[in-house]
Amino acid sequence: MKVIVLGAGVIGVSTAYFLAKSGHEVTVIDKSQSSAEGCSNSNGGQLSYSHIETWSNKSSLLSMLKNVFLANSYLHLKDFSNKEFYSWIAEFIKNSSNENYIKNCEKLFKISSLSKSLMQEILSEEPSLLNGKSFDLSKNGILHFYRNNKNFEAEIKKLEKFSFINRDFEILSAEECLKKEPNLTRLNDEKKLAGGIFFKDDESGDCHKFTQELEKICKEKYEVNFIFDCDIKNLLTNYKKITGINTNKGVLVADKYIFALGASSISLLKGIGIDPKIYPVKGYSLSIKCDEEFIAPNFTMTDNENKIVYSRLGNIFRAAGTVEMSGNNLSINKKNLNFLYSNVEKTFADFGDIKNVREWVGLRPFRPNSLPLIGDLSKFSNLLINAGHGSLGWTNALASAKIIDDLLAKKEIKDFNFLNKELHEIVYGKNNKIDSEL
Ligand SMILES: Cc1cc2nc3c(=O)[nH]c(=O)nc-3n(C[C@H](O)[C@H](O)[C@H](O)COP(=O)(O)OP(=O)(O)OC[C@H]3O[C@@H](n4cnc5c(N)ncnc54)[C@H](O)[C@@H]3O)c2cc1C
Repeated sequence: MKVIVLGAGVIGVSTAYFLAKSGHEVTVIDKSQSSAEGCSNSNGGQLSYSHIETWSNKSSLLSMLKNVFLANSYLHLKDFSNKEFYSWIAEFIKNSSNENYIKNCEKLFKISSLSKSLMQEILSEEPSLLNGKSFDLSKNGILHFYRNNKNFEAEIKKLEKFSFINRDFEILSAEECLKKEPNLTRLNDEKKLAGGIFFKDDESGDCHKFTQELEKICKEKYEVNFIFDCDIKNLLTNYKKITGINTNKGVLVADKYIFALGASSISLLKGIGIDPKIYPVKGYSLSIKCDEEFIAPNFTMTDNENKIVYSRLGNIFRAAGTVEMSGNNLSINKKNLNFLYSNVEKTFADFGDIKNVREWVGLRPFRPNSLPLIGDLSKFSNLLINAGHGSLGWTNALASAKIIDDLLAKKEIKDFNFLNKELHEIVYGKNNKIDSEL
């Protein structure tokens, strides 16, 4: 079957990989000059397979309420003239009830568990990935550290609610955290390290490098055609079918189309009457080059209170975080970058000057319940969607791609039937039921 994948982020390229492997004739189109130039470029690098958590939950909501009024915080809300911003926030709050939170986490965990096993599979099948070396894969686990005893204890209690998630974690004292990452000694000396939770099965790696490596495999081994500098203007339709993709390079035609455009081109779906409720939640990162003058932490970590993730990607130390809701633009708010700089400076032991930094901004494709949209859009028989992965797109890319491949092969996706429900709701509304109960 001839398939066009719209978007060459980690989601689009992973989708192209599985489809091409299954024998489809695949073309990937993207407006950038190469793959992973959008949100997949410089994210936090964490593969949070077991610490899978939706942002919509009571404790995040409380933390957001506190932080929204602080001058120096991870959160900036600025899109007050946009009606969609309010309806998104309202849905987000609704999804923060304990019941919805647990249900949504359970669904995400199913996706992330599949992703973890597919990563293993791909590493054994694709020798050019050098068992993960080619994208700085680290399988050492992820340490979540806490500055405040109350938050630490609340987090431990929260884990009890998730007994259905079979994951391996250890609760660590401050001293035990230091054994994992000696650079936390400064927090400990300042009596700001309450303890940590160590998720053994979690991993980290460079999403940009991975996507580019996968692009190479797609081209060289599976003859996938990549068309870059290809700006999609609109999707052409005729009644219940997509008839082509209108781009600056002309109209491109296939049997099936996979929408994987992340956060910035949601207007294209709206143009054909579909509102996926994906909001572009801006985040920032610093990629700091490590050398003799800058000896950075080696461990992949999450600063829970400040919502910052840290990972070591080869000779790069990456700090990523902040939540800015200011619409669909990549304009830089210096305050957010400064928040990251000051946290790197204040959190770790003195490791030298921060020079040689690459600053980056990206738009997380976020849905109010943190669940991605993956599957058939029944409104258009030849359009599938793979978008809306929020803060977990790198973690969940492989599973999302495999589900699309299974759907095209008409295989049952029994464990993932909840994905149909998500899609049905965005096409027909919440109260319109199809089939017995999706
Ligand atoms: C600060 C930050 C930290 C993060 N940390 C993590 C993490 O630690 N772990 C994790 O799992 N996830 C993390 N994420 C989330 C993750 O990066 C995203 O979920 C993921 O990259 C989304 O991938 P995507 O392919 O859907 O989107 P993108 O990577 O944005 O790809 C979409 C592609 O579509 C193209 N495109 C868009 N519009 C058009 C058009 N009109 N015509 C042609 N092409 C178009 C773009 O050029 C782009 O290449 C983080 C995100 C941010 C911002």
